Amino acid sequence: MLKLYNTLTNQIEEFKPLNPPNVGMYICGPTVYDYFHIGNARTFIMADIIRRYLEYKGNNVKFVMNLTDIDDKIIKKSIEEKIPASEVAKKYSDAFFEDIKRLRIKTATLYPKATEHIDEILRMIKNLIDNGAAYNVDGNVFYNVSSFKSYGKLSGKKIDELEVGARVEVMEEKQNPLDFALWKKSKEGEPFWKSEWGNGRPGWHIECSAMSCKHLGETFDIHAGGNDLIFPHHENEIAQSEAATKKPFVKYWLHFGFLNINKEKMSKSLGNFFTAREVLAKYSAEAIRLFFSQAHYRGPVDFTAELLDAAEKGLEKLKNLRATIDTAINKNKTGGTIPDFDFNSFENRFSAAMDEDFNSPQAVAVIFDFVKEVNRVIAEKENIHLDFYITVKKFLSKTAGDVLGIISFEEKELRKDSLLENELIKILIDIRLKVKNEKNFQLADEIRKKLDALGITLKDTKEGTDFFKRD
Ligand SMILES: [Zn+2]
Repeated sequence: MLKLYNTLTNQIEEFKPLNPPNVGMYICGPTVYDYFHIGNARTFIMADIIRRYLEYKGNNVKFVMNLTDIDDKIIKKSIEEKIPASEVAKKYSDAFFEDIKRLRIKTATLYPKATEHIDEILRMIKNLIDNGAAYNVDGNVFYNVSSFKSYGKLSGKKIDELEVGARVEVMEEKQNPLDFALWKKSKEGEPFWKSEWGNGRPGWHIECSAMSCKHLGETFDIHAGGNDLIFPHHENEIAQSEAATKKPFVKYWLHFGFLNINKEKMSKSLGNFFTAREVLAKYSAEAIRLFFSQAHYRGPVDFTAELLDAAEKGLEKLKNLRATIDTAINKNKTGGTIPDFDFNSFENRFSAAMDEDFNSPQAVAVIFDFVKEVNRVIAEKENIHLDFYITVKKFLSKTAGDVLGIISFEEKELRKDSLLENELIKILIDIRLKVKNEKNFQLADEIRKKLDALGITLKDTKEGTDFFKRD
């Protein structure tokens, strides 16, 4: 039984999807005005692991992540870079897709974009005005927060306390300082869409309500995002959606903890700001994923080079076992004995950990216990039956591979067009054979490991050394 912490109720609850085995999951994606940072990467990776685990449990997950492709930051960047806002959005959405692919994040079912949902957004705003939940002041449309009685139910904030705090930034046109923009009148030179209230563009919050409603329905199972989005973004999404549909918006709200760098808040002014691609230039995607898996998704995480190095080192154990399995399977030897090994207990421990509010640190510990135990058996027993290795591979591929994404067992022949790459690998294989013959096993192993880090796996067979590329 899967249990998860619901920010809406502040409780651990049993997960019961609305229409099992279908699960609708929405996560607030990036505003595409820059490369995303390592804190965003944590959110995307942990959401990915949660989605993969729901699939592991047999659910059919419709995973929707939006792209905010029109907003103040994008307009600001377009002025700085002297290119149209649409080009800024295109450039950084392309970069976003490249980076999430490199982080081995599974492709979402859908990536809806704000600019492709203007009709849905306009319809929802109209609906809110008709319901008395929004008002138009000279081409700016605002949500009337006091019309929504349960405003604050997600963040636990109280309207009257918030009003006191918000008074400093009173906007003349707003009836209440907490009211927020649904439609913003366009300024000279800004991109705009036509509406019955005049030319303008959507406010940020409304796009998530409009797009999740269109793609997941008026009520859906899971809405996730970073902790920093609880207020006001998610609070406002609830107010908009529930006032428009008169139905509960989301059943389970999941939020991811903050990321610090060496115990300090990450910020450009402190010079400790890292984009995901900067970190990917130094560390493998698997190490980054392992590092994040070792902290619970709700808690804070401290990002340090030492911890990343340790994750990279930890992965070596998994990769070495994978090489052992590959070699054994490749030899395809018949006969031998099957050691007594309780695979079920490891599988049960793994799912028991993940069932407990996606306790990935515990799940990682189970995987490394498993690796240790398998290595012990291999070291002690001789002539082990092939089936044992196949079952080991199956277990790791389902858990560490499919759920956590910290190792891959998929094999792909090198592309035919990468002739130079193929030839270079063959040269390295020859050199490795020579140093092996000279009994320099350390160097031979180093060559194998370094190629492995690049996603190229060597397989020693009787006929010589073969190689595969892992994606
Ligand atoms: Zn959102």
